Amino acid sequence: MSATIHCPYCNAGQVVGDFDNYAPFYVNCQECSRRYIVEPVRHGVVVYRDGDAPCCSDPECRATEMAGSGQE
Ligand SMILES: [Zn+2]
Repeated sequence: MSATIHCPYCNAGQVVGDFDNYAPFYVNCQECSRRYIVEPVRHGVVVYRDGDAPCCSDPECRATEMAGSGQE
């Protein structure tokens, strides 16, 4: 599965691929080098600026929550 996304900062297009589940991940823009978040959804992808995503769509926040809740 792959999709064409657009950078939320400079609007540069980029193709992302090889995701096979709905876990969000970070992408580095090839034009402006800023990092943003791509979350695959049922009908495509959603793009968030780094820091704008809700926790469930933020890879680092998810990792923190899973680490915190998985230890008990
Ligand atoms: Zn960009």
